[in-house]
Amino acid sequence: MMPDAVPPPHAALRLRLDSAALAANWRALDSLSGAARTGAAIKADCYGLGVTAAVPVLAAAGCRDWFVAHWQEAAEAVRFVPAAQVSVLHGPMTDAEAAYARALGVRPVLNSLAQVRRWLDTGGGPCDLMVDTGMNRLGLSMGEIGDEAVGALEIETCMSHLASADEDCAQNAAQLARFREVRNAVQAQHYSLCNSAGIALGGDYHFDLTRPGLALYGGVPRGELAGQIAQVAWPEAAVIQVRDLTAGESVGYNATFVAPGPMRVGVISVGYADGYLRCWSGRGHVLWQGRRLPVLGRVSMDMTIVDLSTAENCGEGDWLGLDYVLPEAAAASGLSQYELLTLLGRRFDRSE
Ligand SMILES: *Cc1c(COP(=O)(O)O)cnc(C)c1O
Repeated sequence: MMPDAVPPPHAALRLRLDSAALAANWRALDSLSGAARTGAAIKADCYGLGVTAAVPVLAAAGCRDWFVAHWQEAAEAVRFVPAAQVSVLHGPMTDAEAAYARALGVRPVLNSLAQVRRWLDTGGGPCDLMVDTGMNRLGLSMGEIGDEAVGALEIETCMSHLASADEDCAQNAAQLARFREVRNAVQAQHYSLCNSAGIALGGDYHFDLTRPGLALYGGVPRGELAGQIAQVAWPEAAVIQVRDLTAGESVGYNATFVAPGPMRVGVISVGYADGYLRCWSGRGHVLWQGRRLPVLGRVSMDMTIVDLSTAENCGEGDWLGLDYVLPEAAAASGLSQYELLTLLGRRFDRSE
């Protein structure tokens, strides 16, 4: 028989996506955005959640403006949403990329005068423009926005990006003041400044369109958003073996945990190759029927060992949830909420 005629069994690790929470997060951010439209950053496969599952939910909630980083991501996005609603943040580095944007019907975000000229020289048409107001990442500098080539563009969205919106600091107001200068100098249909955290900085920052990513997917970058944003991603792993240890037996690589007495442990099917990094060794927890069970010893590539001593009825094949509520998990692991989501690997079953 052909190997692909027999589908493999389901993976023993899955990423449960709470679609209702995802839709509610978009609506909460839309309401916080006031009169501005609310888009969605869907780059990096919707921050690891999966475009296939997440984008239709966001579209049904009312989202009409989509931001990807790469051309490959644009190609995937247009399977689910109209191409004219998709902006590609990395911009056209070559004439071939400009031609690709036109062929697909998506808008390039022009990030330099060279990209502005390339877009005009290859035929022009609707585009977005990124202006750097102080992050020194992508975008035209303030000194370049008066260039006559910029005046020749057909700009749908003129945008900038906040570097420190998750903090209270002078940089936010400084970027806002510069973006107001940009609005006066550059003709565009819409102006857009805010990421998730920026939305919580208040109405002055909202302009015509906001571009949340992290908070859609359950991240809480600022205290004001706590209570309005719900967890969306629930990673779960199955127990693939149960073992009974006697006092003095050690667990895992380098024997970093030694059983103080007889104990029951479970080996679960998630490891650092899945984005459950070694920082969780001896520190992470899993959830079983309302109990929090500690991770024992080192996280391996494909497996992690947990303490089942207080979960007598948990056995092989049972599913354990990772304790992965983003703000708390970030504080416990030292990873950012962005990393916690985007690390979740390809072996997770995202089909439900
Ligand atoms: C990633 C990104 C966003 C979304 O940022 P979050 O902090 O995840 O809300 C918005 N705008 C641009 C330009 C981005 O690169």
